[in-house]
Amino acid sequence: MSRGGAIGFVWRNRSFAMIRRILIAAGAFALPACGPEPEPENSMTEKSVTGGLDDKAAMQSQTGATAILNAGVMTELGAADQPVKFLFDPLYDDHYGTFQPMDQALINRIVEGQAPYDNVDAVFVSHAHGDHFSPAAFNRMMAAQSELKLIAPKQAIEQMRGDQGWDPVFAVRITEIALENGEQAAAFEISGARVEAFRSPHTGWPDNHSDVHNITYRISALVGDASYQRVMHFGDADPSRKHYAAHGEFLSSARTGLAIVPYWHFGTANPGSLIDQTFNAERAVGMHVPVSVPGWLGKTDRAYFTEEGQVAAIPETE
Ligand SMILES: [Zn+2]
Repeated sequence: MSRGGAIGFVWRNRSFAMIRRILIAAGAFALPACGPEPEPENSMTEKSVTGGLDDKAAMQSQTGATAILNAGVMTELGAADQPVKFLFDPLYDDHYGTFQPMDQALINRIVEGQAPYDNVDAVFVSHAHGDHFSPAAFNRMMAAQSELKLIAPKQAIEQMRGDQGWDPVFAVRITEIALENGEQAAAFEISGARVEAFRSPHTGWPDNHSDVHNITYRISALVGDASYQRVMHFGDADPSRKHYAAHGEFLSSARTGLAIVPYWHFGTANPGSLIDQTFNAERAVGMHVPVSVPGWLGKTDRAYFTEEGQVAAIPETE
């Protein structure tokens, strides 16, 4: 189904204005939270590249992207019977009155590696904001799971070093990402999966959070002879097209099956081309959705996570 035209754009503009008013009323802009900052709408018609969520039981595969809470997502990709398992932004301290708080039982399952969060190969942090990351909980998780690897921006690792539970023995299992905006990290492998990363501005740039290192990860795992499952998790990346020019060659080098984006990317002008062309992704699923789902989002045909356990399939790409 294709959306677009004046009615859709009016809806979005109104909705963002409403969100802003609510956030301002709640004093949220004083906090290091992550608010939607859509770029101005234009008159282009959007192309829909996503549908609804998927039914894991019907997928006949253990692979897929599974919602944890907020921006937290578990991905299982590669071989259908023994996929590599990664977590993105799974543990956070702050909900800012907007996002779903984590209860202690869920925190413990993730920290201790209990099903479905067992046998995790690595955990990724997009950026060191309280609604994406908890330094103390990460220290507990690194202590509890002695094989677990961690990939995170330098700012997050520095917070862990300064928080309770830090142990220098963690260091050999940690990959620190230190990049400038527009830079990409050298690719490396974890459990047979290829890990790539780039830094682009946090949403709100340049007025808000410009000092925060936001990392997008692209992970690829071989499925068949020349077929991959590939995902990207964008953290709180600003959706403005101009930030991605520096990553154009990187993004065009491989088609991503599933882009996991903060939901406000769907509220920008022509999100279909943002996902399909700029990000070079087959489909997208939204994360970081407030407990009170924005009205405009509910009216789109976009797939987005609101509850733990929801699944989005990862299309195979070359
Ligand atoms: Zn943030």
